[in-house]
Amino acid sequence: EAKRAGRGRYRVFEAGMDDLLHKRREMEIDLRRALALKQFELHYQPILDLSNDTVIGFEALLRWKHPVRGNVPPLDFIALAEENGLIVKIGEWVLRTACLEAASWSDGMIVAVNVSPLQFKADTLLETVASALEKSSLSAERLEIEITEGALLDDTDNVLQTLKALRELGVKISMDDFGTGYSSLSYLQKFPFSKIKIDRTFVASANADSEAILRAVAGLGTSLGMAITAEGVETAEQLARIRGERCTHVQGYLTGRPMAPEMISSFLARPKPHQ
Ligand code: C2E
Ligand code: MG
Ligand code: MG
Ligand code: MG
Repeated sequence: EAKRAGRGRYRVFEAGMDDLLHKRREMEIDLRRALALKQFELHYQPILDLSNDTVIGFEALLRWKHPVRGNVPPLDFIALAEENGLIVKIGEWVLRTACLEAASWSDGMIVAVNVSPLQFKADTLLETVASALEKSSLSAERLEIEITEGALLDDTDNVLQTLKALRELGVKISMDDFGTGYSSLSYLQKFPFSKIKIDRTFVASANADSEAILRAVAGLGTSLGMAITAEGVETAEQLARIRGERCTHVQGYLTGRPMAPEMISSFLARPKPHQ
């Protein structure tokens, strides 16, 4: 009896798996067509400089407008695109589009672009970055590339070469989501980052441990000459806490949600809110 029930459960489980695989397969087919069908957009989240409370630029965040599923969040499709390699083509589109759109912003505004581990390791990355800058006439100092610890894991020599080559182009590199992955402190010394972005989990929770981690990372980054961004600042109270730490920048819903490109000029022209 138990055995039969077990088998029954197994069949149910199998059907569930089938369903999942089917959905995944469908998503993959749709993702392959998404570029050609122009279903991607970039939204932009403001980056605030804490030394003078001004917006110095925006982070580009990818949006997929699926005709049936609606807005698919990046966390739901970027991992898949990374597994099947589509991220390289999608990432090229992101770099080209972000540079083109940023070139129309008021003088000096920077744009930060996320580059996934596979895209970072693709041998076309340097060429893609150089050509995105050239075609948009955006000066390299206005581009920041954000990578996560996943990009640094193996092949240290090649990673270092790529980072140096990007720096030679004049592009800045940020370590994104610091604190959530392997967070080896030696990465900070080994690789030429200009900025560390401390993950929002350390900003959101107001307990002694996350405060200590935030303080330590900000202190270390500062002594290594890096800028420090606190990610995911949602409340005035969190902002006040961050101001007491050695953070140089903040991003979060409090200072601005990601917005469509056509909203940027009015956002920049608005009267400065008191913070
Ligand atoms: P990320 O690079 O760390 O980007 C920050 C994420 O936090 C964004 O989510 C942003 O909308 C969200 N966020 C910003 N402020 C707040 C806040 O105050 N509270 C909360 N709860 N969330 C906040 P999003 O747009 O869903 O992107 C998620 C992740 O997907 C990004 O994390 C990044 O790793 C990846 N991603 C987004 N666009 C791209 C892209 O063009 N290429 C690649 N490779 N990855 C991308
Ligand atoms: Mg990012
Ligand atoms: Mg981040
Ligand atoms: Mg993140």
